[in-house]
Amino acid sequence: MISYSETPVQEIPLSFGGMRLLLKREDLNHPVVAGNKFWKLKHNLQFAIENGFNTLLTVGGAFSNHIFATAHAAKEVGLKSIGIIRGEKPEKLNHVLTSASAAGMKLHFVSRTAYKMRREVSWVRSLESEFGGFYFIPEGGTNTLAVRGCMEWAEKLQAIECDYVCMPVGTGGTMAGLSATLRQRQLVGYSILKDGAFLKDEVERLHAESSITATAPWAIETAYSFGGYAKVSDKLREFVSSFPVPLDEVYTGKMMYGIIDQIKSGRFIEGSTILALHTGGLQTTGRLKRS
Ligand SMILES: *Cc1c(COP(=O)(O)O)cnc(C)c1O
Repeated sequence: MISYSETPVQEIPLSFGGMRLLLKREDLNHPVVAGNKFWKLKHNLQFAIENGFNTLLTVGGAFSNHIFATAHAAKEVGLKSIGIIRGEKPEKLNHVLTSASAAGMKLHFVSRTAYKMRREVSWVRSLESEFGGFYFIPEGGTNTLAVRGCMEWAEKLQAIECDYVCMPVGTGGTMAGLSATLRQRQLVGYSILKDGAFLKDEVERLHAESSITATAPWAIETAYSFGGYAKVSDKLREFVSSFPVPLDEVYTGKMMYGIIDQIKSGRFIEGSTILALHTGGLQTTGRLKRS
């Protein structure tokens, strides 16, 4: 199994009084299968191994942290991996894909039109005729086993005293697991996707799929996507580069920008302690084109 390192909680100094901001450095839990991707992959890897699969197949965009993590996790546990990547094959692979490929992942590029089929069972089946048998992990790694892994993470997080737990939200898988485990605190997710209001339904769908229900109040903030997935502005870039801890620009930078902005605007009750989750993703920092 992939090896886990215990991670610290770091206090982030605020230039104004009344609040405490803590950062759970889960980005340090593994050198390459880092952050929430560790927890999302953990039970999927175990299931694949126990059920005799020798190959993982998954899907994602060219900057996907999930593709990166899956490639390295597969290598660590001795499985083969195939990544179905959205879009035409570029002349030069970016850092994420170069690293995934070096870890042994076979990359297969599909058109954006074909990629729209990624949630269809028939499409996944059709890949079997091309690639042989494999264990399929959906986009972003989100499935019931990923939710279960995030519930396990939440049990560890429950020991940290706080009033709010904040996290970035992409597919909602992490929010689904945490919100069905954490108690006596409020969860606040920050959508990194444009028009993220649908993520509430997505989390509820994932709860139903796993036969779990919320154990704490949770909400998803939609005003901090900075135009959508992997979109960055000068303002965001400046914020990330002046922050005392390394953040990524796709997820944790947007979350942290949102937290600081909402502390100032009074979203959080005066005198409370906010625990932000550093979910990893640092491999893309400074590598995205400004939009
Ligand atoms: C994948 C990812 C997320 C989003 O997790 P979901 O479970 O898809 O919502 C958040 N932060 C980082 C750094 C990620 O790589």
